[in-house]
Amino acid sequence: MGIFKVLRSWPVARQIAAGDATALDGTAVSERTAELRARTVAADRAVQSVCPYCAVGCGQKVYVKDGRIMDIEGDEDSPISRGRLCPKGAATFQLVTGDHRVHHCLYRRPGGKDWELIPLEKAMDLVAERVRDTRDRTWEQKDHKRKDVQRTLGIAHLGGATLDDEENYLLKKLYTALGIVQVENQARI
Ligand code: SF4
Repeated sequence: MGIFKVLRSWPVARQIAAGDATALDGTAVSERTAELRARTVAADRAVQSVCPYCAVGCGQKVYVKDGRIMDIEGDEDSPISRGRLCPKGAATFQLVTGDHRVHHCLYRRPGGKDWELIPLEKAMDLVAERVRDTRDRTWEQKDHKRKDVQRTLGIAHLGGATLDDEENYLLKKLYTALGIVQVENQARI
């Protein structure tokens, strides 16, 4: 390596040569740093989304390549978070793609100690049967003042921050139709 190349590879020498005493003018940047590229540059597109974890609702950009998610980063255009994500939000990519994610229904029978794998259709049937049974057993046509209420207090719903507006709308519609009046949500933005 020639003497000039050695000097050029030395940040202090570059600073002196460029009169950049504070190194704020880019002379301290190494070649390797200058060559670094964000992993998202290979994406076909970025889709704006919202972090599913909590009620803060930080903005996210979901980077897609060949129809598959390749990365999820903070959205600098979000007025809520301005590009920032906490460690949970920054790990959303793993939530979506991680091999630890459960892809099947687990069921533990009343009094049971072990989880069983059951088909989704079976799980849906179990939920529907229990909702129907509870509603039938706890249905109130009138309250204690003989006022018509047509409701059940045997079922309550507590929604999470991962529910969006449209899902909450459909849930409320379903519960109202079923006579379920205890509907609460960890509301987000
Ligand atoms: S990034 Fe963190 S603070 Fe923001 S919504 Fe997600 S979990 Fe909440």
